[in-house]
Amino acid sequence: MSFSPSNTTVAYFSMEIALDSAVPTYSGGLGVLAGDTLRSAADLSVPVVGISLLHRKGYFEQHLDAQGNQSEAPVQWKPEDELEPVDARTTVMIEGRTVQVRAWKYPVRGVSGHEVPVYLLDTQLPENSEWDRTLTDYLYGGDSHYRLCQEVVLGMGGASMLRALNVPTDIYHLNEGHSALLTLCLLDWQLEGRKPFELDETDIEAVRRKCVFTTHTPVPAGHDKFPLDLVRRVIGAEQVTLLEAAHCTDGGTLNMTHCALRLARFVNGVAMKHREVSQSMFPNFPIDAITNGVHALTWTSPPFKELFDERIPEWRMDNLYLRYAVGIPLQEIRAAHAKAKAELVKEVARRNDVALDPKVFTIGFARRATPYKRADLLFARPERLIEIASSVGPLQIVFGGKAHPNDNGGKELIRRIHAAAASLANTVTVVYVENYEMEIAARMVAGVDLWLNNPMKPLEASGTSGMKAALNGVPSLSVLDGWWIEGHVEGVTGWSIGGSDPEGDQSKDANEIYLKLERVILPLYYGLPFAYAEVMRSAIGINGSFFNTQRMVEQYVRNAYFPDAAPALVEVAS
Ligand SMILES: *Cc1c(COP(=O)(O)O)cnc(C)c1O
Repeated sequence: MSFSPSNTTVAYFSMEIALDSAVPTYSGGLGVLAGDTLRSAADLSVPVVGISLLHRKGYFEQHLDAQGNQSEAPVQWKPEDELEPVDARTTVMIEGRTVQVRAWKYPVRGVSGHEVPVYLLDTQLPENSEWDRTLTDYLYGGDSHYRLCQEVVLGMGGASMLRALNVPTDIYHLNEGHSALLTLCLLDWQLEGRKPFELDETDIEAVRRKCVFTTHTPVPAGHDKFPLDLVRRVIGAEQVTLLEAAHCTDGGTLNMTHCALRLARFVNGVAMKHREVSQSMFPNFPIDAITNGVHALTWTSPPFKELFDERIPEWRMDNLYLRYAVGIPLQEIRAAHAKAKAELVKEVARRNDVALDPKVFTIGFARRATPYKRADLLFARPERLIEIASSVGPLQIVFGGKAHPNDNGGKELIRRIHAAAASLANTVTVVYVENYEMEIAARMVAGVDLWLNNPMKPLEASGTSGMKAALNGVPSLSVLDGWWIEGHVEGVTGWSIGGSDPEGDQSKDANEIYLKLERVILPLYYGLPFAYAEVMRSAIGINGSFFNTQRMVEQYVRNAYFPDAAPALVEVAS
């Protein structure tokens, strides 16, 4: 089956892409989503190439002391050991200097061998000034000047690198606004030598036809904004004139999200609810929804892979077959989960020197440590946890997550969890694993009995870790925000916190967590283990079969990349 009109390529731009645990080029959910997207594009043989930055110093390695104080160290890795050097070179202009850009290739290979090449841009070249060489070092490091220069390398350097590589690109997918400056290259090529003031609506429309934009952040502060003075200093007056001619600026500001909205023909949020929230933030632009997913082969633990291979072997090629997990005997679900849990217990013992009890109900919570995610909500009333543990049944909790080096609120959360852990030491075992990244994430989402998510509404655009848990038969207990509004069937795929009112109340949400654990979840787990296993199985059949990037990429193909080719596609498929 062919997925596109002949000879068209989609270039997928993302500031972070999680490619491999040995390639630390991501910080969290956005990068994991980007990696999962490209892995599924490769599985489906969709003609995609990825563009990102090399991030020589990575995001950072997290260390925590006994009180939970976070310190950060650059990640040591050797690009030349993990990536293929590429001969092509290009340049970008920064503050009047010509900055040389090279690229490294990481081939993402799909289930049937199709390759999606990912090019990581790098300015560490002897021809560049010492400062310019650092531009591709730190992911989300430095000040807004550094960030803008990085976005010039990503957007403009990326677009011109594709030309240098002879990749005929028809569609540019901006995964978040960081790469919006690629539109400057497209506008410039559209001018074919004419002056910026000669840009007309036909030119703008021609650029719009090439661009697809996915927004991920319902927090206004999460959208990059740069003062035009700074932008003028970095890219020059002529380029700013071009941005202005394309209506990409707002008075004295360049807002990357606004720029992307104006120059994309298709814009989407990452869950149905997030579309609504984004639509009210940007009422002048039609916004669609394509709900996120996760790459099933990456996030399914070895014991469940084995079980699915035996019972529904088609699942590897076609994730829809996970729907038939509802027919797998409960005993086999329980046995696979027990193996995944034993693996997590072993890993926590190795990393934290803490002995978790494999027979004890285990809650997992891990994601970026930042205030709106409320990682410490479970400890709002620690006496309730003690009460539940002694009257209904024992429980233990595993945490993980990095705080951005400048996020003091996030760092405070980690300290509070450590303090709570110390105060509960004799009744509830609480561990915080350091340096949350893909490998430990995969073990956690598969090895716990319940995945907890309690962000402040409506700030979770989608959330994806609960989808990873679902693939492994781990139900969620979550506020009704992001993907969980779509994936939640009470008592069937998991449980909700706090109903559907638009705003969550801190103490109400905490009380509801305690109530659900005390009256519903723990009694089920300890009293009716096969009924609990039924919820686990439904999480796979109902949610694993849908919240995967295979379904998601197919939606991007049909709705965003090649909407006009859709009828032809249907013909090919039938
Ligand atoms: C999946 C994942 C995330 C995203 O988790 P959310 O629940 O979407 O916040 C962050 N970091 C890592 C390492 C992950 O694997």
